[in-house]
Amino acid sequence: MPSRPPVHRPAHYQPAAQRREQLASLDARRGSSAARGYGADWQRLRLQVLAEEPLCRFCAEQGRVTAARDVDHIVPIAQRPDLRLERSNLRPLCQPCHSGLTARGDQFR
Ligand SMILES: [Zn+2]
Repeated sequence: MPSRPPVHRPAHYQPAAQRREQLASLDARRGSSAARGYGADWQRLRLQVLAEEPLCRFCAEQGRVTAARDVDHIVPIAQRPDLRLERSNLRPLCQPCHSGLTARGDQFR
């Protein structure tokens, strides 16, 4: 086997296989998005909701015009998993409204 000249590599260089292994173990810890209950069907519906109602619903009720970023389940999935993909159970919210709602645990506003 011919010897190759030494190759300088940056300190963070990792062989591809090792990198793949690390990514795989990261996925295993976090769970895939499908495993967390957000599969392709949810992604599609989420985009549909945001396309139909691009503005945050809470902000709109208060006369503010804010772009929605999240899609919220009006009745939480934990209570009604069957309504997870029900369009009428979904509302678009901006990130502050959504995180405020989640932080208070008040899902029925
Ligand atoms: Zn809002």
